Amino acid sequence: MNCRVKDELVSQLVALNNKLNLLSPDLVHGDEEREEVQQQRENLYAEIKHHRAKGHEGKPCPAAKQAWASHL
Ligand SMILES: [Zn+2]
Repeated sequence: MNCRVKDELVSQLVALNNKLNLLSPDLVHGDEEREEVQQQRENLYAEIKHHRAKGHEGKPCPAAKQAWASHL
């Protein structure tokens, strides 16, 4: 079973991961930016966790059984 919200959350997470990979350690403000992206990722993790557990009117996400943990 698919869930559009889940797909959206996961694609956001993938985008953040990509962004993090692109931030070169040589960048002057790289550390700051990495911290910021990492913080965004933390927030997204929390959102995903909440959605999986009770994102559907207090019930677990029907798509949570799929292996979307592989993105985390
Ligand atoms: Zn869902």
